[in-house]
Amino acid sequence: MLGLMQDFPLLVHRVLDHAARWHGETEIVSRSVEGPIHRTTYSEINGRARALASVAARRLGVGQGTIVATMAWNTWRHLEIWYGIMGLGAVVHTLNPRLFADQLDYIINHAGDQWIFVDLSFVGLFEKLQDRLPRVKGFVVMTDAAHMPAATTLRNPVCYEELLAQGDAGFAWPQFDENTACGLCYTSGTTGNPKGVVYSHRSNVLHALMVSLPDVKAISSRDAVMPVVPMFHANAWSLAFSCPMNGAKMVMPGPKLDGASVYELLTSERVTLSSAVPTVWMMLLQHLETNPDLHLPDLKRLFIGGSACPEVIIKFFGERYGVDVIHGWGMTEMSPIGSAATPTAATAALAEDGWWPIKLKQGRAPFMVDMKITDDAGQSLPHDGKTFGCLKVKGPAVARSYFRDEGTQAFDADGWFDTGDVATIDPYGFMHITDRSKDVIKSGGEWISSIELENIAIGCAGVLEAAAIGLPHPKWDERPLLVIVRKAGAQTCKADIMAYMQGRIAKWWLPDDVVFVDEIPHTATGKISKLALRERFRDYRWPCA
Ligand code: AMP
Repeated sequence: MLGLMQDFPLLVHRVLDHAARWHGETEIVSRSVEGPIHRTTYSEINGRARALASVAARRLGVGQGTIVATMAWNTWRHLEIWYGIMGLGAVVHTLNPRLFADQLDYIINHAGDQWIFVDLSFVGLFEKLQDRLPRVKGFVVMTDAAHMPAATTLRNPVCYEELLAQGDAGFAWPQFDENTACGLCYTSGTTGNPKGVVYSHRSNVLHALMVSLPDVKAISSRDAVMPVVPMFHANAWSLAFSCPMNGAKMVMPGPKLDGASVYELLTSERVTLSSAVPTVWMMLLQHLETNPDLHLPDLKRLFIGGSACPEVIIKFFGERYGVDVIHGWGMTEMSPIGSAATPTAATAALAEDGWWPIKLKQGRAPFMVDMKITDDAGQSLPHDGKTFGCLKVKGPAVARSYFRDEGTQAFDADGWFDTGDVATIDPYGFMHITDRSKDVIKSGGEWISSIELENIAIGCAGVLEAAAIGLPHPKWDERPLLVIVRKAGAQTCKADIMAYMQGRIAKWWLPDDVVFVDEIPHTATGKISKLALRERFRDYRWPCA
């Protein structure tokens, strides 16, 4: 017997329709690429998204299944392009400007992108790259006629605002199935070529609902939300969907992501919730440390993930500014949110020193994320908070394969996706990432968590960034080398760091050496590139080995 409820396909543009209808006057405030602050509303964005859809279909030949790329910052234009293109049943392929030319060329050709929407900042990049992109029909430059570069050599350059002016704001969205693809994002691929993750309308809507839940980001129409996390990586952690779904005001930082610029918008637009990787909050932390008179009167929650969030960040914002820092974890393949460290009734009843170590973990799986840890043979491991194993996940917003069927070994016969992360799960259900499986340091048959070493080292005065890697050792197979970037002007030395770490971790976890560098290499998604670091220290010799 089937239920007798209505068929209401879960399509992402219905989210924007809802925002326009019931939160039509709610603002989207952006720092524009051209410079000034720009203000619009959900109602206007909806009309412009429809206008774009109509003209993209008519003039650019975009239809169901067409792949259209964007390389753009978080602004209102990027938002309306997402909805306009997705609403046609076409696919938005977000391009990360931090990728190398070779990677961009590979993914654009692999995806078969037909048009690329670019912010002014990236026109020069594509003028150079376009000869390697023979299938791209042309480029839409996301600006108005006054700012359109007159002498661009881009193939078929189209001015976005001129294009939009020819569109129909009353365009009716076409009908299609909720399982239709709407987004494409390539993983950073530390080994081998990047692999494409294809999101559907249904997966994005369900994921946005999940992210909105009180034990995840708790987004409401009373919030002003600033996604510092870029729309070009992993759906801006769903905020481009979950904010309009809940009628929250959006504050888009555009191209300026430094501490001072982020602070300025947080306060001038009275932001209550923001999301980004730890590096962004480290920059804000430094800005606040050097300007002790500054305050964060409206900010209530920071959702931090992408890399392990160091304790110093959680403490700094919590103790000085009363901001609740929520540690989360996720992956491009998971749309991306997979867990959040918000208290349950049981952990809320713990004393501060009982709760604190749990709050630092990556957190619990919300509804629609199924999670387990297994040994190498695939047997489930206990939730005792000590045993660590391969972290595997399932869910309606988790990939079931990669684009063009690559990387099949990550998915098992029962549909579990192997995240490549190593984790523990404690009796309260809080998951803790100890490492990427490739980055675990294997010393004398035992595992050392590189993330743990980094998190502790960064708490030492004068340390700006820390990275731990395992290097070959004649006796122990591998031992940890700690690589440090000092804060400007700091004199911190090896002895200071070793003294600070002593007693905070097991003695045999202490790094065998500490080296200082000017800069630690990062991947395009802002994570420490352990691959590049291991390469850089390939010929390193231990002090007394
Ligand atoms: P990406 O798909 O580029 O977002 O990268 C996903 C990977 O980032 C995960 O598999 C983890 O290795 C890492 N990651 C994400 N969030 C966290 C976190 N809170 N703590 C530690 N690692 C994280």
